[in-house]
Parts: sequence; structure tokens; C-alpha cells
Amino acid sequence: MTNTGALWQNWARSESVRPARVERPTSVAAVQRAVIAAAKSGMPIKAVGSGHSFSGIAVAPGVLLDLADLSGIVGVDTATGRVTLAAGTRLHRIRGLLAPYGLALANMGDVDRQTISGATSTGTHGTGSAFGGLVTQIVGLTLVTGDGELLHVSETENAEIFPAARLGLGALGILVDVTIQCVPDFLLHAVEQAEPLGEVLDTFDERSRAADHFEFYWFPHTEKALTKTNTRLNPAAGRAPLAPVSRWIDDELLANGVFGALCTIGAVLPQSVPTINRVAERFMARRDYTDASTRIFVSRRAVRFHEMEYALPIAAIPAAVREVRELIQRSGWRISFPIEVRSAAADDVWLSTAHGRETGYIAVHRFYREKPAEYFTAVEAIMRSHDGRPHWGKMHTRDAESLRETYPHFDDFVAVRDRLDPERRFTNRYLERVLGR
Ligand SMILES: Cc1cc2nc3c(=O)[nH]c(=O)nc-3n(C[C@H](O)[C@H](O)[C@H](O)COP(=O)(O)OP(=O)(O)OC[C@H]3O[C@@H](n4cnc5c(N)ncnc54)[C@H](O)[C@@H]3O)c2cc1C
Repeated sequence: MTNTGALWQNWARSESVRPARVERPTSVAAVQRAVIAAAKSGMPIKAVGSGHSFSGIAVAPGVLLDLADLSGIVGVDTATGRVTLAAGTRLHRIRGLLAPYGLALANMGDVDRQTISGATSTGTHGTGSAFGGLVTQIVGLTLVTGDGELLHVSETENAEIFPAARLGLGALGILVDVTIQCVPDFLLHAVEQAEPLGEVLDTFDERSRAADHFEFYWFPHTEKALTKTNTRLNPAAGRAPLAPVSRWIDDELLANGVFGALCTIGAVLPQSVPTINRVAERFMARRDYTDASTRIFVSRRAVRFHEMEYALPIAAIPAAVREVRELIQRSGWRISFPIEVRSAAADDVWLSTAHGRETGYIAVHRFYREKPAEYFTAVEAIMRSHDGRPHWGKMHTRDAESLRETYPHFDDFVAVRDRLDPERRFTNRYLERVLGR
């Protein structure tokens, strides 16, 4: 199917473009034909996932490829638990697809609306000091390269490209399938509670190591953090889910409905934000429950926001959060959205934010109707002073020159890009800024 002209916007409404052409291929061969046709007409081409990146990484001014019709399971190796998914598969479909095989994704981020290709291409991650982000679960993939050829990449096929292609920023070609190392299905036992921020910061490293998945949210202008500690359990342990009504009140009514209304008030009356946040703090009731992993990893986010997230050496997290808190106090800004702090294991993927170091993540947000630039720029300076690496799918101002300093394999990645896309058919303005022309 081919369309023209409609306006494309990302989820956060921070990026938009009117692509010259939109194509929705229904086969791998059609993806190859689209790449070859775009090359003949001298137009750039880009696959776009579900538009959940806050940065301009998915902006496709030439040909926008929508892979929604390339979705579902391509193959399953039941002996190894490796599952190949078509590139346009959305994360929220994966649980149902894996259920007949008793398998699950090892770890997930906060939401599941993204496509598997978009999520891995930007380094999407969840939390857990012993667990890497999604890229570390990828064991193989197939790309359509700049000349329209198919390239299979894994630890054994074209292995020299593997550390680049697992997190390719959409710069190396069009992914048509991705193979994931799954794990046996599991439950999570979740404990959520409000705790003094100072104590949480003092013990962050230790608690991140002790728990399977530890994270916390801190609402600016308050002294409490909402901690979440999740423990992996065998399905035989049995589910003890939240009662549907209390789940709806907490996760839909308060976290989306009421929170959205309060953000709207806060945008008009910023002086009310500290009071609102302190009231929100009082509603952070302790919750203790056990459920399917996806029901605990994933939340619904109905209130739109803008986000910047930085990856730091994990030991730097407490100091950096304290600096952000002092910055907010000093500046007089009224910040309605919480700061989210997570962790990940070190990995060997060249452009992974957790490459070569145990990592802590600090994410800052602003309601989408508020201007984020002043706050994000000041926080970014703090993150840079701790050798921070920005999430590729979230807002930041870094360029190739400064990113080269923090990624030891930056030039190796650029060399792979030169090899697979010498004509820069997959580029856009964001990639020109972060990788160079
Ligand atoms: C509400 C919300 C919550 C989020 N939570 C988290 C979180 O918990 N953790 C986290 O790390 N991130 C999180 N993110 C960020 C999000 O996971 C990433 O930005 C992710 O890339 C979005 O996936 P997508 O399918 O929307 O991809 P898009 O944003 O559409 O595209 C991202 C990149 O992938 C490329 N791409 C897509 N498909 C292909 C393909 N077939 N071949 C080659 N390249 C391709 C695009 O060209 C682009 O470069 C969140 C975002 C939102 C809006």
C-alpha cells in the first residue's frame, strides 16, 4: 500500500513531518523493492515504529516505511527458547505470541506500545542491575541494506557487524526480523512504597544489586520517593494480583486521569505544583502483589510528556540526583512530573548506553504543554559532568563529536554505517547530528 502527504507526529508531539511518500509493505521482498525504488528516485527512506521516541530519530521526510503488516512470529526454536519476530511486531503482542511456548521477554521497560525494531534500535531498557536492556536479548536479525540486499547478522553470521546492528539507530538499514533469546515464563512479586529520598539514595546501589528489579520515582518538591522492588518467581508460586477495582483506581484514575488533570492545572498555575506533588506523596500507598511479568513491568501512560534520560556509571547516581534536586530548589521551577531512576547491567553493544559499565539511569520529564528546554539543558549539564550518555530515543542536545568521547566503539559503528549505507539512504537530521553526515 502506498500513501502520500499525511502529517506524521510522534507520541510526545515534539516531532512532526509530512513524508513525501508512505509505504506499507506486506512482505520482505516489498521492503527490498521500496529501498531500491527510493534509491532510484534519490529519496531517503526510513522505517518508523510506533513513534514513541521523543527525539527526532524516527523523522522520515522522504519515504516513510510503516511495517505494521510485518508482524508476528517468523520462527521458534523451542530447544533454545529463541524466537524470531517480524520487525513491525508491537511489544504488547509478544506476551500472547510467546504464551503457547511458555516463554517471556527477560526484562521490559515502562510501556509496551513500541515495535520490537524501534525499541531495540534506540536501546530501550527497563531496570535491574543483573539485566541488560532489550538489545542484550537480541541474538540475531535480518536487515535490508542500502543496496536492497538482505543481510543476516548474529554471533555466527556476519558476526563483525553484530555489536553494531543490535542497536543500529535505524542508520544501518531496514530491520525485517529480529531474533530474541526468551526465558521461561515467570511471575513478578511487586512491593511498592513511599520511602525517604535520602535513605533511598544512600542505598541505591546496594538495593539495585539485591533486588531483581529495583527502581524509584521522586516527585520534585517532596522528600519521599516511590520505590518499586520486583522479585522474579516461578509460575508455580501463583498469582496474587491487585483487586481489579484498586488497580483501576491507582493505575487509571490516579496515575492517568487525576494526574493528567493536575498537570493541566500545574501548567496554568505553576505555583500550585509543589502542593499538588505533596498531596500526591500522601497517596503513595504501599502495594504488595504478584502477577504476570508484563502486568508489572508495564504501565499505561495516557498523559503526554517530554523526556530526557541519561545513563551514568551506577556509582554516580546518588550524587547526580542530589544535584538535580538542588538545581530545582535553586531555580524556582515547578516540576510536576517525577524523576525516574533505574539500573542495568554492563553490556558489549557498541552504542548501548550501558556499554562497558554498570549503569544507572536518571530520567526527567515535563508535561507536553510545558517548555522543557531550560530544565533539560541544566540537567544535561549535570549528567555530562558524570560522563552521562543520553538515551537515543529521548531528548538531548549532544552531537557526534561529544558522543565519540563517551563511546569507545563510536568510530567502529560509523565504519559499519559507511559499509552498509555509504549513500546515506537511511539518514535524517537527527542521525546527521549524532553520527555525522
Ligand atoms: C510513554 C513512553 C514510555 C517509554 N518508556 C521507556 C522505557 O521504559 N525505557 C526506555 O528505554 N525507553 C522508553 N521509551 C522510549 C521508547 O522505548 C523508544 O523511543 C523506542 O524507540 C520507541 O519505539 P518505536 O517503535 O515507537 O520506534 P520509533 O520511535 O518509531 O523509531 C525509533 C527508531 O527505530 C527505527 N526503526 C523502527 N523500525 C525500524 C526497522 N524496522 N528497521 C530499522 N529501524 C527501525 C526508526 O527509524 C528510529 O530510528 C518510552 C517512550 C514513551 C513515549
